[in-house]
Amino acid sequence: MNLIMLGPPGAGKGTQAAMLAVQLGIPHVASGDLFREALKAETELGLTAKSYMDRGELVPDEVTIAMIRERLLKSDCDKGIILDGFPRTIEQTKALTELLAEQGKTIDAALFIDASEDELVRRLSSRWTCRNCQAIYNLISNPPREKGKCDVCGGELYQRADDVPETVRNRIRVYWDQTSPLIDYYRDEGLLITIESEGGIDHVQAKILEALQSA
Ligand SMILES: [Zn+2]
Repeated sequence: MNLIMLGPPGAGKGTQAAMLAVQLGIPHVASGDLFREALKAETELGLTAKSYMDRGELVPDEVTIAMIRERLLKSDCDKGIILDGFPRTIEQTKALTELLAEQGKTIDAALFIDASEDELVRRLSSRWTCRNCQAIYNLISNPPREKGKCDVCGGELYQRADDVPETVRNRIRVYWDQTSPLIDYYRDEGLLITIESEGGIDHVQAKILEALQSA
């Protein structure tokens, strides 16, 4: 089963993909990890990608696609793959379809893990950091004992620029601008499965497995 994971920041896409990989016994390939592995192994493609990153440029599609091609040829992908973070554009989607076809494979589903903007902002802006010792708290999953105060050193807690609701809303907006054409594309292809990210991690995973069984 070849799957693509889609979802805005904060929806829990990566967590769900990792759990699903264990459930289905197929690899979870996040595009960031793919780059890191290729760099570490100093493969030709890894070094090519690095030369772009060192210049602060985007790695061109053909390099990324060649890396995915290499990864797909490994024997652990015989039963399928869960792609996370790729494709990001319609051009990449078309290239992926072609390269899967070369190997006699198709995309079986695009799983779109969704949540309301308010919920995403609530989750993503829940991180607070200690100004003094840099300890990190999460108001939802790991709150400090006393509001605004570090448990470890008593220092003042603050939100880093990345975690401020306004920045978070902007990140979500950028995601939608980039991804809505992909969502439309997979919907038109009849491959889109939308899962609401609510009711806890295990509940979401159960909904995904149920949806895949009837897909
Ligand atoms: Zn502290």
